Amino acid sequence: MVVVFRRQKCLSFSCGNIVDNLLIQGCGMGERSSRDIWSNFLAFMRDQCSRAEYENWIAPIRYVEGHDPIALQVPNVFVQGYLLENYYEALTSFFPRDKKGKPLITFLVEESKGRGRVIPPKAPKRREGEVSLAFRLNDSYTFDNFIEGPSNQFIKSAALNVASRPGKSYNPLFIHGGVGLGKTHLLHGIAHFVHRHHKKKQLQCITIEAFINDLVSHLRNKSIDKMKRYYRNLDVFLVDDIQFLQNRLNFEEEFCNTFEALINSSRQIVITSDKPPGQLQLSERMIARMERGLVAHIGTPDLETRVAILQHKAEQIGFVLPSHVAFYIAEHIYHNVRQLEGAVNRLSAYCRIMNLKIDQGVVDRALSEMFQAPLRSKISVDRILHSVSSMFNVRESDLRGNSRVKEVSFPRQIAMYLAKELLGDSLMKIASAFGGKTHSTLLYSWKKIAKQLEYDEMLRRRVQMTRHNIEA
Ligand code: ADP
Ligand code: MG
Repeated sequence: MVVVFRRQKCLSFSCGNIVDNLLIQGCGMGERSSRDIWSNFLAFMRDQCSRAEYENWIAPIRYVEGHDPIALQVPNVFVQGYLLENYYEALTSFFPRDKKGKPLITFLVEESKGRGRVIPPKAPKRREGEVSLAFRLNDSYTFDNFIEGPSNQFIKSAALNVASRPGKSYNPLFIHGGVGLGKTHLLHGIAHFVHRHHKKKQLQCITIEAFINDLVSHLRNKSIDKMKRYYRNLDVFLVDDIQFLQNRLNFEEEFCNTFEALINSSRQIVITSDKPPGQLQLSERMIARMERGLVAHIGTPDLETRVAILQHKAEQIGFVLPSHVAFYIAEHIYHNVRQLEGAVNRLSAYCRIMNLKIDQGVVDRALSEMFQAPLRSKISVDRILHSVSSMFNVRESDLRGNSRVKEVSFPRQIAMYLAKELLGDSLMKIASAFGGKTHSTLLYSWKKIAKQLEYDEMLRRRVQMTRHNIEA
């Protein structure tokens, strides 16, 4: 059976009549027609939902063969609830119905396997148009499992501080850094901690995509006030990957309003991003709000921290990783903690499947494609400017420019200092890469910073961290 429907522009469902004629209420159906119903329903949903909504909520649902009535496997009860609450009408239109008109579907809930864990809502059960209160936390993304080193010590203690005293220390806390360096891990770490130690606090940990999905779904259901009420009553609001709010003007305004309402009543906000606030293409108002709290950078871990992470990950999967092998891997994989984790898993599987004892040859065979090029050749003025810009929250273009404002000229001097320290090129060549400066400017900057480093412990630590990022 093929159900034909037209693309609908309006958001309400009106396909019931078409399908009514094709469905036999409450009676058993052949496997083929059940599968067709499911395929048609999926096609309809693809048309109705945004891509992110479809990926998050609909794609994880599986059609189960050989069931009568139709059985759908859902990863958890929240997906089932989401489907029933938001698309009830569509379900009744596509699927056979019982005598009371309810869709005849058996939901099989896949018990959460392994790492993912759903924190159930604290608020009463969601009614139509209410906000999704459940969120998924990775069980292993706790503070205890987060390995510290110079590149992330500061941010970890800031996160712990915020989790211990929500709304009372840094607010908002803005965490930024490259891919796979532990931003989501820390965000979930805060969520676990708050969930455990401040049971009464209303908490939401959400990606900006999921926030947008909620917004879309409430706009569709004309229940935006309910959504506002929910978000504005949170005590702790944790938002992952704010960069995906860029160029989404309509959503940005609502997010900004929520943000302001929460901050103004001292509720805790933590945001993660792949760049510092000043480099995001968001409104001035939004950027200014985010910069008002603590903006902290999470850098690439240094060699010792990478070794510790490798050993920790190996221990978690019960794999014995000799320390000289851990050092060898850490020397060759330095950009991204996720890759370190991947390397441990791959090596462990390789040794197990091939029944091999670990040595350097085995490591090379198993991991050589993951190894990165030797460090020094990778260092460049661009790379230095990029790290300094992230660490000191200034634009790279300003670092190359001529502004004498201290907030810009001081980081520029640090970048020059590091360039002279780390690059083998002539002073003239390095200086000209800074937007055509002279070699005497470069030398002056180098001397000034070198002197200050002798007595300024705080500066020494920041420069050291920047240097680790550049070399990592
Ligand atoms: P991001 O959100 O910055 O892209 P994630 O938080 O997803 O990165 O981290 C990627 C992986 O690396 C995760 O499995 C995380 O547990 C792990 N990881 C990152 N930093 C650390 C760390 N300091 N200690 C232990 N594991 C880490
Ligand atoms: Mg992340």
